[in-house]
Amino acid sequence: MQTKQKYKGLRLILGDQLNHEHSWFQEKDWLYVLMEVKPESEYVTHHIQKIVGIFQAMRCFAEELSAKGLDVVYYKIGDEHNQQSFEKNIHHLLKKNKLQVFQYQEADEWRLDQILGAIEGGESVSSEHFLTERDEFRGKKSFLMETFYRQMRKRHNILMDGPNPITGKWNYDKSNRKKLPAKLKVIEPIVFSHDVTEIYQEVQNAGIKSIGTIKPSEFIWPKNRKEVIEVLDYFVDHLLPNYGDYQDALSQNHWSVFHSRISFGMNLKMISPLIAIEKVEEAFLQREEVSISAAEGFIRQVLGWREYMRGLYWAKMPDYKDMNFFEHKRKLPDFFWTGETKMNCLSKAIGQSLDYAYAHHIQRLMVTGNFALLAGIDPDEVDLWYLGIYIDAFEWVEITNTRGMSQYADGGIVATKPYVSSASYIHKMGDYCANCQYDHKKKTGDGACPFNSLYWNFIDANRSKLEDNPRMSMMLALWRKMSPDKQKDLLSQAEHYLEQIESL
Ligand code: FAD
Ligand code: SF4
Repeated sequence: MQTKQKYKGLRLILGDQLNHEHSWFQEKDWLYVLMEVKPESEYVTHHIQKIVGIFQAMRCFAEELSAKGLDVVYYKIGDEHNQQSFEKNIHHLLKKNKLQVFQYQEADEWRLDQILGAIEGGESVSSEHFLTERDEFRGKKSFLMETFYRQMRKRHNILMDGPNPITGKWNYDKSNRKKLPAKLKVIEPIVFSHDVTEIYQEVQNAGIKSIGTIKPSEFIWPKNRKEVIEVLDYFVDHLLPNYGDYQDALSQNHWSVFHSRISFGMNLKMISPLIAIEKVEEAFLQREEVSISAAEGFIRQVLGWREYMRGLYWAKMPDYKDMNFFEHKRKLPDFFWTGETKMNCLSKAIGQSLDYAYAHHIQRLMVTGNFALLAGIDPDEVDLWYLGIYIDAFEWVEITNTRGMSQYADGGIVATKPYVSSASYIHKMGDYCANCQYDHKKKTGDGACPFNSLYWNFIDANRSKLEDNPRMSMMLALWRKMSPDKQKDLLSQAEHYLEQIESL
C-alpha cells in the first residue's frame, strides 16, 4: 500500500536518453528505471566499446540520479531478476509497485518506438533534446538541407546579424576541403582511462556477441556529462581552429584529425546540441584564430545535418529501411570485419574503426562507403556494419547517412548525387596511397587501384539510373567519349576484381 502512494508512476530512461536537463528529473515522486537488456545489445553485432560505453554511461547516470534523491531501479545485464525485455521488466515493476501509469520519452529509433508504443497505457513525452520536432518534415514534398539549415540558423539566431548571416555568406563548405600539410602538428585527441573490467566481464558472461577490440583497464570514452563537456571544451580550445580547413582531410596516422568526437556523448543526450553550437559560436566571436569557416563548418553539421537527418528519418520510416535504388545485392567482404585487405585506405579506416569504434566523416563516406557503393554491396549489409561498428551509431542518424548519403539507396532523398570517386579523391585528400600496394594512378593491369576500374564500372552499370541527374552528366559524358577498347579494359579489370573481392 505504501508504494502505491509513494510514486505517481514508472518512467523508463533508455540508454540514449541520459539527459540531466530533462524536466522529468525535477520530480522525485516517480520511480525511474534503466535497463540493460540482451535484445538491444544483440539486434545487430555491436562493437564491444559501444556496448560497454553505453552501459558505463547508463550506470553513471543512474548513480547521479540517485545522488539527486530520485528513486531509480537499475537492471544490469547479468542480474538474475532481469527478464531481458523492456515489456517484461516494465510489467513486473508496475505490478510489484502497484502502479498504473507508465511514461517513456519518445524513442529515436522507429523499431523501439513501436515496442514501447505497444505497451498498454504507456504515455510518451518529448526527449527534450533536439532543436526540431520529430515530425518536422512529415507531409513536406521537398527536403533540401541547405534551405532547412538556413531556417535553423534564423530560428535559433546562430551566426546571424539580424535576418542575414553574420559574415554575409551562409555556407563555407568549399573552404573545408584541404589536405593536411606534412608539417602541421595534429593535436592528439582527448581520451579517458576508465577501468571498465567489471562491465566488460558482465557482457562476456552474458554471452553477447561483439566486434572490435577494447582495453578494459583503459577505456577511452567519456562516462558522464562532465566528461562529455570536457571533450567539447577540448575540441573548442584546441581543435576547432583547424577543424574548418581540414574537415575532409584523411590521415593514416591520426584517427580523428581535428574532429570533435562529440557524437557519442551527444547521441546519448549527455549534452544538448545547443551547448555545442553556442560554445563554437562564442569561440568564433571571441577568438581570432577561430575562423568563420571552422565555426560554420561545425555548426552546419550539428544544427543542419544532424537535425535534418532526424527529420528525414521520421518522415520516411519504415519504408526507408528497404530502399535499394541500385538493386545492389553483393555480400559485404569479410575484410570489413578484420581490416585485412591490401587496400591501405580501407585497411586503415576499418582497422581504426575496430580499435576505436570511431572513424570520421570522410573515412565513413569516401573510403568505406565509397568502396561499398562502387562494389555494389547490398545496403542491408552496409547498414548493419555501420550500425554495429561505430560508438555513435543509432539508426535515426546511421541509416540516413549510410543508406541515404553514402549508398544513394534512397535514390536521392538525402544526397543530390552518389558519393563515389576513383582513387584520385583519396589520394588528393590524404596519405593512404603513398603506403599502398596498389598504384593510385593505374587504372588497369597489375597493381591497379581497385577504386579506379570499379568507379567506371559503377558509372557504366548505372547509366540509365544516373542520366537524368545533372550532377552526373560530366562523368557520363566522359565515359561515353572513352574508346571502346579502354572501356572494355576497365570493365574487365573491374570484373576481375569483383570476382576476387575477398582477396583485394
Ligand atoms: P565532427 O566532424 O566533429 O562533427 C560534429 C558533429 O556534427 C558530430 O558529432 C555529429 O553530431 C554532427 N554531424 C556531422 N556530420 C553529420 C551527418 N552527416 N549527419 C548527422 N550529424 C552529423 N553520425 C552519427 O552520429 N551516428 C552514426 O551512426 C553515423 N553514421 C554515419 C555513417 C556514414 C556512412 C556516414 C557517411 C556518416 C555517418 N555519421 C554518423 C555522420 C558523421 O560521420 C558522424 O557524426 C561523425 O563522424 C562523428 O564524429 P565527430 O563527433 O568527431 O564529428
Ligand atoms: Fe586506397 Fe587505391 Fe589509394 Fe590504395 S591506391 S590507398 S586502394 S585509393
